[in-house]
Amino acid sequence: MNLERNHCLPLLLVPFLLILMTPSTLLGQGYEGAEDLRWYKGNTHTHTLNSDGDSFPEEVARWYREHGYNFLVITDHNYLTGVDILNQLYGVEGRYLVIKGDEVSDRSEGKPIHLNALNPDYNVLPQGGSDILETLQNNIDAIRQASAVVHINHPNFVWALTAEHIKQVEGCVLFEIYSGHPAVNNLGGGGMPSVEEMWDQVLSSGKLIYGMAVDDAHTFRQPENRAAARPGQAWVMVRASELTADAILESLENGDFYASTGIELSDYQAGREEIRIETEESNNTRYRILFIGDQGKVLKEESSSPAVYKISGDEKYVRARIIDSNGNLAWTQPVMLD
Ligand SMILES: [Zn+2]
Ligand SMILES: [Zn+2]
Repeated sequence: MNLERNHCLPLLLVPFLLILMTPSTLLGQGYEGAEDLRWYKGNTHTHTLNSDGDSFPEEVARWYREHGYNFLVITDHNYLTGVDILNQLYGVEGRYLVIKGDEVSDRSEGKPIHLNALNPDYNVLPQGGSDILETLQNNIDAIRQASAVVHINHPNFVWALTAEHIKQVEGCVLFEIYSGHPAVNNLGGGGMPSVEEMWDQVLSSGKLIYGMAVDDAHTFRQPENRAAARPGQAWVMVRASELTADAILESLENGDFYASTGIELSDYQAGREEIRIETEESNNTRYRILFIGDQGKVLKEESSSPAVYKISGDEKYVRARIIDSNGNLAWTQPVMLD
């Protein structure tokens, strides 16, 4: 993957987006100042030596800055790593920001129950509960109490969570549909659904939840080891008014972002009338754009840009999955129609 190209694209896209975007076509609410919106690349799940990562916070923050990211949330297990010094060292206004966080790491029924608190007021510790669902809900409530944004992590890690759990929780609109960690069973198997299939099960029930892609990086010192939880595997592209924790997290909770393992979209617009996705062929890379609805059914497949899906209104929801000819993926967020 040509990282150098990825570094530059978000900035190059700005003038293009300014021309194309109008408030009525945007996903989120409250974006009247559309002319100020930009795309920011970020990872919301990362570990350091303050939990089971292998590198100092300074090294981790530096890795993401040097690899073209605009923001990073450091999420050590049950530990709130300070970010002020990291922003003094590496922060650049409008270009790179480290946001504090913690991975609330609980257990229930013998399974790990992990949720990320993004920008909490204080370190949120595991709350426990009588079963998996209650443990999930208690931790979501505690994270929100700390004024943080919450996402549910790696549902298939130790096969801990099912679509039924995620359908029933309240106060959480984000979960990981793809993790770069090599042992979290993204693709399911042995009779268990992939996390993306789980996503469709939840959406088909009428519950809105947005899909994140993250690194869950632990290992910065073994770049050649594919069995390690390395950085740079998966991320989100967030459309926001400015590079501040508040603006980035507001856009995440509004679903104004897409998830990626390597695909950079030229443009992405979604509303109740249509979804429009633009890709740019380069180095012979070609794309498939699948528009997906109720029960994960493929409603339409497109192979050229722009890929447009006109919403009829009875699909229940429509989202898109983009696959490139080299195996990279991207997922746009569902438009709910009920
Ligand atoms: Zn975890
Ligand atoms: Zn983690």
